[in-house]
Amino acid sequence: MTTSPSLRNDQQQTSQKLLRVNELFFSIQGETRDSGLPTVFIRLTGCPLRCVYCDTEYAFHDGNKISIADILHRVAEYRTRHVTVTGGEPLAQKASLHLLKLLCDEGYQVSLETSGAMDIAPVDDRVSRIVDIKTPGSGEADKNRFENLEHLTPEDQVKFVICDRTDYTWSRERLTEYQLNERCEVLFSPSYGELSPTTLADWILEDHLPVRLQVQLHKYLWGDVPGK
Ligand code: SF4
Repeated sequence: MTTSPSLRNDQQQTSQKLLRVNELFFSIQGETRDSGLPTVFIRLTGCPLRCVYCDTEYAFHDGNKISIADILHRVAEYRTRHVTVTGGEPLAQKASLHLLKLLCDEGYQVSLETSGAMDIAPVDDRVSRIVDIKTPGSGEADKNRFENLEHLTPEDQVKFVICDRTDYTWSRERLTEYQLNERCEVLFSPSYGELSPTTLADWILEDHLPVRLQVQLHKYLWGDVPGK
């Protein structure tokens, strides 16, 4: 099948769209069910939230405008199948939707890490979406967009970052209320340096919760270092 000149023109215009990129790097995926896999991370600048435990505040403002074509070129240099678009909040930049689509078109396995405060409906359905549900301990629970949960599929994951027992109880209630484990995989992650993974593991086992405990593997490997 040949591509029509007008379609080619559209594709070229799309690939010239600019995104503000905070960093682009190759590392080990430390979270989600892809934990442990070598992955290219594209961290987009900007986030409308201010979670108290945020470990990427440097991504709120700094970054360079780069065309989608150039981003694709840089990703290809790492010769890996797995690409994660993260932030900040990637969906705060509209052109991120084009980037996600073009990454899928190129044959990458693409995941998106999003705060749960933005509409995930327009995201290409080949993308695995990791959607946060912000707990009270984050200070941003009122930003949760629970309508997003209707769009979740088994390819997606929801993530609770849990700071203390109050957060745990709240998360367990949302798990039941929205029957989350019937929609997709559910991740319970202890807030790094705030709640012991062992304590969270014990709570999950006591309650027989159908969730996956995750630790931030990259922090155990390299500590709290940007670009890792
Ligand atoms: S949503 Fe993520 S990037 Fe934004 S403030 Fe919260 S933890 Fe930080």
